[in-house]
Amino acid sequence: MPIALDVLFPIPTPAFSYLLPFDAEIPSIGVRVVVPWQQGLRIGLLVGVREVSASAGLELKQIISVLEPYPHVLAQQTQFILELAKRSCSPAGLVLSNLLATGLQEELIHEIRAIEGIKDIGISAEHWTDAKNIENVNLFREQGLIEEQVRIVQPKHKVLRVIKGIDENLAGKRQLNQRLALQWLQSVESVASGSELARQADVSESAVRTLVKKAYIGYFEEDAPEPALPNYPSKNLEREIRFLPRSDYIVISGGSRQDRISALVDGIKETLDAKKSVLVIAPEQNLIAETASYLQAIFPTLVLSGELNDRQRKRLWHELRGQNLVLVASYFGFLAPLEHIGQIVVIEETSSSHKQRSGPRLFNTSVAKALAKNLACPIVLTDSLISAESYLATKDDNSEHFELAYPEQRYHFSDMTKTSNWPLGANLIQVLNQVKDRARQAILLSPRRGYSAALGCANCGSIISCPNCDLSLKYYQRERRLRCHQCGTDLDIPTTCPSCNSIELQAMRGAGTEWIAKTVRNQIKDFPVYRYDSDQRDDLSPLVEGEAGIVVATTAILRHQPLANVSLIALTLFDSLLSFSDFRAEEEALRTVLSLNELAPYKRPLILLQSFQLEHKVFKILQAKDISLAIKSFHEEVLKRRKNFHYPPYSTVAQIQISAKDENVAYNESRRIFDTLKLHCKDKAELLGPSQMPIFRLRSFYNYQIFISDLSAQGFNQLLAPIIPYRGQARVRIDIEPREIGQFLE
Ligand SMILES: [Zn+2]
Ligand SMILES: [Zn+2]
Repeated sequence: MPIALDVLFPIPTPAFSYLLPFDAEIPSIGVRVVVPWQQGLRIGLLVGVREVSASAGLELKQIISVLEPYPHVLAQQTQFILELAKRSCSPAGLVLSNLLATGLQEELIHEIRAIEGIKDIGISAEHWTDAKNIENVNLFREQGLIEEQVRIVQPKHKVLRVIKGIDENLAGKRQLNQRLALQWLQSVESVASGSELARQADVSESAVRTLVKKAYIGYFEEDAPEPALPNYPSKNLEREIRFLPRSDYIVISGGSRQDRISALVDGIKETLDAKKSVLVIAPEQNLIAETASYLQAIFPTLVLSGELNDRQRKRLWHELRGQNLVLVASYFGFLAPLEHIGQIVVIEETSSSHKQRSGPRLFNTSVAKALAKNLACPIVLTDSLISAESYLATKDDNSEHFELAYPEQRYHFSDMTKTSNWPLGANLIQVLNQVKDRARQAILLSPRRGYSAALGCANCGSIISCPNCDLSLKYYQRERRLRCHQCGTDLDIPTTCPSCNSIELQAMRGAGTEWIAKTVRNQIKDFPVYRYDSDQRDDLSPLVEGEAGIVVATTAILRHQPLANVSLIALTLFDSLLSFSDFRAEEEALRTVLSLNELAPYKRPLILLQSFQLEHKVFKILQAKDISLAIKSFHEEVLKRRKNFHYPPYSTVAQIQISAKDENVAYNESRRIFDTLKLHCKDKAELLGPSQMPIFRLRSFYNYQIFISDLSAQGFNQLLAPIIPYRGQARVRIDIEPREIGQFLE
C-alpha cells in the first residue's frame, strides 16, 4: 500500500498530504520534509503517516526529501500541535506558526540531475545542476526524469586571510605598511574586514587595499561562527525556601516573586538529578530574564524567547538536544526539542500576558497544563494570589498548595467620598509631603496615561467621542490633543463644545498620569516629579541610585528595575481595577494590590489606596488578621457563584465575536450563528447572547458576542462545527478561554 505523509506548514491551514516515494524508509514523526510547492520547494513538519489506497496515492505529489533523520519537533509535541488545534478550533498550521520558534523558513539549495539514460532534456546526468534557473522542473519531476537533492544554505561570512607571505616585491621602504599589515594578519590568521585589519595593524586602509589588489591577502567565505546566546547577569536568591513537591499539580502562592522562585529550587534539583529537564514558561521578557538570572546561578539554564534572533534560536535547538537542564522560555518553549521533560513551571500563572492576542489565542497556562498531562509530568504554577481555578484544583488528591506568608504590607485606605480634592485626596497629599520632608521616594500608580479619560462640556455634560469607536477620546492637555487609544484617531482640541457651542470644555472622568503629575507638581513644590508610562518614559536612574523623588506611572513601572528608597506606593484610583469587564476582576484587583510589594521588595512601604467604595470586600481581605483564611473564603464564595453560572472552572467558555462595518450585517449574522449553534448543541452547551460587545463600535466595526459554555466536555471543535470554517458576510473570531468575558450576568 502507498504511504501518505501529512505535512504541516506555518500557514493557517490544516496539514497537506504527500506521497512517500515507494522505496523510501518511513521517516519519524516531527522531522522536517521538503515538498514541491508552487514553482519551488517548501519545508514542512511531518505530523502523520498513514496507508492509502493505490488510487488515492496517485492523486498525491511525492515529497522531495527528508531534511534530517531526527525530529525537529519531538513526536509527543507534534501530536500536541494537533491537539491544540482541536482545542482552539484553529487550523493546525496556525498553531504551528504561533508556537514554533525556528526551522521552517530556511533558504534551500535545490539541485537536480537527469536519471541515467535520459538525454534530451538539457540536464546533465553526470553532475548536479542548480534547479534555480531551470524551467519545467515540476514537469520533469512528474514524468520521473530527474533526481533531486536539497540542503539548507549555511550562513556564511567573509573573512580576510593571507594568500602568500612577504617576498621581494614587498621589500621596499614604501611597502612598510603593507608588510606590517601582512605580518599582523599572519599572526591572527583572519579578520572580519579590511578596515578591521587596518585598525588592528595600525596602518592605512589603502595599504590593506593594495595587499588585496596584489593578491597577498584575500577575502574567503567560510561558515559563520555560532552566534552568542543572550547573557543575563546571575543573581542570588536572598532567602532559602525549602519545598519538595510530592504531587502532580502544585501551586506556589504568596511571598514575593523571588520567594516563589526560591520555592522552586528543591523541586528543580530533584528533577535534574533524575536526568530530566525542567521547562519554565514566563509571561514577559522581563520575567524571563529575572527568572533565568536566579535559576542560572544554581542550575544549567538556557533561555528561549522572542528576543533571540533566528540564528540564536537554531543554536539553541542544537544545544537542547539530549540535555538535562532548565529552559526558561516564552510560549516558544512548548515545542522546543527538550527531551525528557520532568516538570513544567508557569511563572505568574494568571498574568494577562499569558493570553496570546493573535493566532489561535492560546492561554499559555492552559497549554502548559495540557502538555504536562500529555507528558505525564508534574506542573507547578506560581502567582502572588492563587487563582480560583487552581484553588479548586488543589482540593483534589495528588495536588498541593504551598502558600508562602503574604508580604506584610502597611495599608492606608483613603475614602474619596470624604474629600473634595481630585485626583489626589487630602490624605495622599499629606503623605506625599512627608515623603518630601524625609527625602524618600513615592510611586503613584494611575490607571491610565494622558491627561484624562475624556474631555467634556461643563455646560451640557456631553463627552467628546471617537468618530470610529464607542469610546471617549483621551485628553492630552500639554500637547492639546484628543486621542483614541484603540484606533489611533488623533485630533485637535475643539474650541467649543460640538453639542452646545459652549466654551466650558474641561477634563472629565478618570485622571491620567499627565493630570496627576501636574497636580503633584502644584502641591509638592521643589521636589522632583517623574513620569513613567508608554507616552513618556523619564530616566529613573537617580531614583534607582537612591535620590528622593516621586514617580507618576502606569503599570509600565512594574517592568522597571526596583527603586532604592520607596516609602509610599499609592493607587490613585483603586476602583478602576474593578471596572474591567471580566468576572475575574475582583480576584485580579486583589492580586494587583498583593503584588505591589514587587515595586520595593523587602522594604515595607506604606500602600495607600484611594477609592470611592471602601466597603468593597477586597479591602476587608487586605485588613484581615489572617489573610490566608480571608482569601480562602473569598475563593469559596467566588466558586459558588461560578458554579451557578457555569463559568470556569466548572466549564470551558468560548467567545464568538461577530464584527461587520454594517450594523445590520453584524446583528443578523450574530443571530444566525446563535440559532445555528442552538440547534446543533442542544443541551450539550449553554449559549448566551448575542449581545453587543462592551465597546460596541470599535475601529469602525460593529461588534456582537456570543458566549458558549461547554457543559458536556465535548470540545469546541464539535460544538462549533457548523461555523468552522465560517462562510458569511461578517468577520468571526473564536476565542477559547477568553480572559475578558464580562461580569456575572446578575
Ligand atoms: Zn456642551
Ligand atoms: Zn477610536
